[in-house]
Amino acid sequence: MKTHVRVLVIGGGVVGVSTLYHLARKGWTDIALIERSELTAGSTWHAAGLLPLFNMSYTVGQLHKYSVDLYKRLPAETGQDVSFHVTGNLRLATNRDRMDEYQKYCGTANTIGVPFEVITPARVKELWPLIELGGSPETPAIIGALYHPHDGHIAPADLTMALRKGARAAGAEIYEHTEATAFERTPAGEWKVRTTQGDIVAQHIVLATGNYARQVGKLLGLNVPAIPVEHQYIVYDESPELMAYRKAGGRELAVLRESDKSYYLREERMGWILGPYEKGAPARFADGVPDWFGRSLFPGDLDRLVPHVEAATRRVPALENCGIKDIVNGPISYTPDGSPLIGPAWGVPNVWLNEGHSFGITAAGGSGWQLAEWIVEGEPGIDMLAVDPRRFGAYTSKRYVVQKNEETYRNVFTIHYPDEERADGRPAKTSPVYDKLNARGAVWGQRYGWERANWFAPAGVERKDRWSFRRTNYFEHVGNEARLMRERVGVIDLTPFTKHEVTGPGAEGWLDSLVANKVPSRIGRMALSHALTRRGGIRSEFTITRIAAEHFYVVSAGAAERYDGDYLEKALPADGSVGLRNITNTRGTFVLAGPKSREVLAQLTDSPLDNASFPWLTAQVIEAGLAVDVYALRVNFVGALGWELHFPIEYAQGLFDALFEAGKPHGIGMVGMRAMESLRMEKSYRMWGSDLTPDYTPFEASLDRFVRMSKGPFIGREALEKQLEAGVPNRFVTLEVHGVTDADPLGNEPLFDAGGRMVGRATSGYYGHCLQKSLAIGYVRTEHAEPGTRLGIQILGERKQATVLRESPYDPENLDLRA
Ligand SMILES: Cc1cc2nc3c(=O)[nH]c(=O)nc-3n(C[C@H](O)[C@H](O)[C@H](O)COP(=O)(O)OP(=O)(O)OC[C@H]3O[C@@H](n4cnc5c(N)ncnc54)[C@H](O)[C@@H]3O)c2cc1C
Repeated sequence: MKTHVRVLVIGGGVVGVSTLYHLARKGWTDIALIERSELTAGSTWHAAGLLPLFNMSYTVGQLHKYSVDLYKRLPAETGQDVSFHVTGNLRLATNRDRMDEYQKYCGTANTIGVPFEVITPARVKELWPLIELGGSPETPAIIGALYHPHDGHIAPADLTMALRKGARAAGAEIYEHTEATAFERTPAGEWKVRTTQGDIVAQHIVLATGNYARQVGKLLGLNVPAIPVEHQYIVYDESPELMAYRKAGGRELAVLRESDKSYYLREERMGWILGPYEKGAPARFADGVPDWFGRSLFPGDLDRLVPHVEAATRRVPALENCGIKDIVNGPISYTPDGSPLIGPAWGVPNVWLNEGHSFGITAAGGSGWQLAEWIVEGEPGIDMLAVDPRRFGAYTSKRYVVQKNEETYRNVFTIHYPDEERADGRPAKTSPVYDKLNARGAVWGQRYGWERANWFAPAGVERKDRWSFRRTNYFEHVGNEARLMRERVGVIDLTPFTKHEVTGPGAEGWLDSLVANKVPSRIGRMALSHALTRRGGIRSEFTITRIAAEHFYVVSAGAAERYDGDYLEKALPADGSVGLRNITNTRGTFVLAGPKSREVLAQLTDSPLDNASFPWLTAQVIEAGLAVDVYALRVNFVGALGWELHFPIEYAQGLFDALFEAGKPHGIGMVGMRAMESLRMEKSYRMWGSDLTPDYTPFEASLDRFVRMSKGPFIGREALEKQLEAGVPNRFVTLEVHGVTDADPLGNEPLFDAGGRMVGRATSGYYGHCLQKSLAIGYVRTEHAEPGTRLGIQILGERKQATVLRESPYDPENLDLRA
């Protein structure tokens, strides 16, 4: 056994072995993998082997696509068959919302190049002759289906062995019956991993421990939000009808998913495998996997299976005539949002996670590919935000993760509406004015554990979302909130913002080296600044305000607390010249905006608020009502005259009441996140995470004015220089979409030129309530970015016309902001 390696992968399931394979393929061959038992002994050996390309996430969709392509190549490359049955994959729809979901997915599939077909019931019957098309209340009529012709199922153990062969051929080593039991940092900054077979020192460690993620994470001080849930499938005996069909020359049937009844069905040795996602499946091993579990399974729970068996038997009557051979009930790793954890761990250097996989057979190829890229190149090749382990924060308590994971599991097949807000694990984190907003009719959503008011139901209106892919019950109320902000004055509670304090003699120089913009040199100035990847993509967006000579206030998205905090912390200079403090939970934030906002705030403060004393894009430390030490920033995300008030959190309730008291004569009201979305779209304001991602540089995002190429070195500068030389390939655009009746763009819609060629993608969209226009923002090839260009946009299966608008269709001169 080697005692020193460059990378040590811990865990010999399909995910760990794929990571090893991809590291080796990238030329890092001084690497090893340890497995406490035998390869595949975790969840991999009993997986059903399905490889669904379908995924609503732009990132996960790309990982799955890579996997399916890789698995097809592997046998030729390694000489090891992987039993990949390219049967195709059929997802049934029995109602319009489900069809909308598929059509929404088709937009994502188009933008990442996954081939699919939306097919008619007749074609379903043609592809799947043993199916009942239905038409009764119990078995509703199939109205269409989504068909992926190129995926299917695979033998997970064979796949793992092929990856092992590929990794070993390139020089990687694998040690079975070797368990990692403790971790220590060496004085040289490497990791000494204690194992049951002796110590191994490694520069990098990768945790790919499946069901053991929490207990292995704990050894490193990490609270990994991955807890498995029970998942079962039934293996049926041979089916006479299936045998007859195959004997008559029928091809292997596509994997069938009746999403509305929450099960999948595939052929298995002339019989069937039926896998439901049931209600009531319990989370397991929240406190660790007991020693006795090993390669075991749980006893089958027939009661949970019965409703799905009955539904499947009605849809495929052939099931009635075959007996049950076996029930497989195993732990399947889950995370609170159902996506895996792929990328760096937080707070510890050179520790990488490839954990939390619920579709690990499907995701193993893609996750290994991108994690290897990240370790070797320093960053991934695609936008990995949706799977970055740091998208979760310290709020992921055991009970939160258990509740969320059970909820995510039972909702695998429910319709994923773009505005869905699930109920479990809530409320976790609330702003101090939570009760006050409740009293004003808040309809809540949750992000990063925080309760956020999406909209406010006026008196007499039901406080409930009717989720939809189309305009729905809250449309009118969101419109009223948006107009309130544009015409009078509104308040948005943005307490969840991530807030850091950066201090010390080295603060300015250090911040300057991290972002593309110039850090403000004068006290009271602020700068919208972007931290870039080395490839020049946008990794973070910070509003940096200079509070004092050596004191900067750095604000970023609420969901980026750990993502940005970890980045800043790891980038700190070693000489102690910079102090960094996360003050997210010590300051609250209210946005006070609208033409009357000056008059409202003036009643609470003696600080002059006129344009000469307090110009747009400046900040002052003021008193407001009874609150002291309020950072008032004359900036906002809605494009109105106004201030963001960042105050010591203990003043939240008093300040809130004072604002509403002062605002009463002006008709002040609360504004929720959805109205903010509408308002920011009208101003072409880009949102970090959806519009600003590592996939695009600030030049592509048309944020040229926030890049100071002349200021000296910063991360990403060289890549930007190269891009300027070569020409910027894409440009950010704002689009008006014509002819929309009830389905506005929401992001991930493909954009087409006049000839029907795909030339870009929308990254966000919403109805602009004040402009009364359906709007989208996104990226197109540069030659299509001129205002006035006509493009096509595909929304829920319909091709609509769109026109590129001049940036900021509402108030392009920013007159409101400067008022
Ligand atoms: C019933 C069922 C059906 C499924 N069907 C599908 C499907 O059809 N398609 C699909 O994509 N996914 C499916 N899955 C999910 C899939 O099985 C998992 O996502 C996948 O196997 C995860 O692989 P992994 O490598 O992350 O974890 P695992 O396979 O669990 O491997 C982790 C390994 O780490 C080892 N380990 C843990 N701690 C240590 C340590 N300290 N030192 C050394 N080694 C350690 C373990 O022994 C284990 O071998 C299914 C799951 C279940 C339960």
